Amino acid sequence: MNYKVLYRKYRPTNFENIIGQEYIVKTLKNSIINNNISHAYIFSGPRGTGKTSTAKVFSKAINCIEHIDGSPCEKCEFCLNFVENPDIIEIDAASNNGVDEIRGLIDNIKLTPTNGKYKVYIIDEVHMLTTSAFNALLLTLEEPPAHAIFILATTNIENVPITILSRCQRFDFQKITIENLVSGLKKVCEKENISIDEEALTEIAYLSEGGMRDALSLLDQLSKNGQNISLDLVEKQIKTISQKGINELIETIEKNDVENCLRLINEYRIRAIDYKTLIKKVIDICSFRAKNIKKTGRIVRLDFKDYKDLIINLSDCLTKININVEPYTIIEMILLEFFNVETNNTESITMIKEENSKKIETNVQQTKVFESEIDNDLINIRINNTFVNAQKVFLEEAKNVIDSCNNSVSIDGKIKSILIDSNVVAASDEYVILTCISDHAADNANKLLNEIEKSIKDSLNKKYKLVFISEERWQKEKSDYILNIKSNKKYEYIEEEVTEESTEPIINDIFDMSKVEII
Ligand SMILES: [Zn+2]
Repeated sequence: MNYKVLYRKYRPTNFENIIGQEYIVKTLKNSIINNNISHAYIFSGPRGTGKTSTAKVFSKAINCIEHIDGSPCEKCEFCLNFVENPDIIEIDAASNNGVDEIRGLIDNIKLTPTNGKYKVYIIDEVHMLTTSAFNALLLTLEEPPAHAIFILATTNIENVPITILSRCQRFDFQKITIENLVSGLKKVCEKENISIDEEALTEIAYLSEGGMRDALSLLDQLSKNGQNISLDLVEKQIKTISQKGINELIETIEKNDVENCLRLINEYRIRAIDYKTLIKKVIDICSFRAKNIKKTGRIVRLDFKDYKDLIINLSDCLTKININVEPYTIIEMILLEFFNVETNNTESITMIKEENSKKIETNVQQTKVFESEIDNDLINIRINNTFVNAQKVFLEEAKNVIDSCNNSVSIDGKIKSILIDSNVVAASDEYVILTCISDHAADNANKLLNEIEKSIKDSLNKKYKLVFISEERWQKEKSDYILNIKSNKKYEYIEEEVTEESTEPIINDIFDMSKVEII
């Protein structure tokens, strides 16, 4: 596969291409112009905001033979051979090898650089280092050789020891604004000849929450069919709901239009829109409207208290939904509270409410049965086994494989849509953890594990063992992993039990196991 995903293709190679971090870029360029370079920097900020790219461009610029106003010239021997330069050393602290690599770098740090003026050590996700690795790093930071420069990058600055922070020049990377994301995406679309509507661009920017990498991944996904990217296409493929759609929903409440409200909710349910995104967006718009009432007065049926109640009830609902009730049923019930019912309508509303209560009951019962079907042990084993040898290179590789699956014509549509809706978050050479928007979605994906694995093997000749978990669970697993790595816990490989799927039910059919006694 020669296809290069957009975010890799458009990774900034020069300061001019780094979007939305003007202050940082200006300060770094000035330090080069004034020849006032520190020995240690720490770049903190959310993922996809350009920390590693900036670290690389900076490494290029400080070694460049004739920089232009602090930017790399792109012509000298050093700039041209930057990618292969052995003096730029990247370490991924999130991999199990992080500690050994830190020890290795400390052993070699005294050796002078082979080509340029400086040896640059870029340590990604530095907060993942163990205490002993931090201590070793600290000693080096206290008395670094003149040719060594450290650039530490982290998404969790609060987990970096203060002793390290106090020795670094700190730069906080900001989330990229919607405007900057839109203009960045526009440039890529022009270069790639991707036809896209303005409101679709804004929606992609909104969905990527300040990260250019996520924005470009979404664009990648949407541009694969080669058709014009409209807001409609974004909504359908990403299974999201646009600002326009949310406004429409809120307007049905403001206009007391029950029928259309229920119609829209049902439409979102059928389209399997992520309910959390829906709720968050409704809350955003409601709070905006509530504030406007305080500023300019009330112009619609709802007053300040209505919007406030709606916000409180919906945020409450986010916790209630965790008990596995069909989320849209609860959302529906909450919204219905805000309609004024005329007498001739009362009956139908009561009916809907009753129906919904029944739905909640059956859903709770179904969920109980459903949970017992899923082999939780296997999920735990696979998470553990991924962590045994989780490395950034494997993660990148797995992302590539899954990207290619989404692009492949030989993979079944159902499997493709599961893969498109999930994110690869950790991988070893053998195991991959993918996240889904909810436990429910993860359970559904896990039911098809064999089928999905077989498809990946058949079409890309890659034999992976996959496991799907919810985004929420991943956050927990990830912080446990960080704690364990920090306390030097090594993950041990656990053998998976090979279960013959068909044997158990047959035995159960032949014997009533409850009556069999063991003598
Ligand atoms: Zn140069």
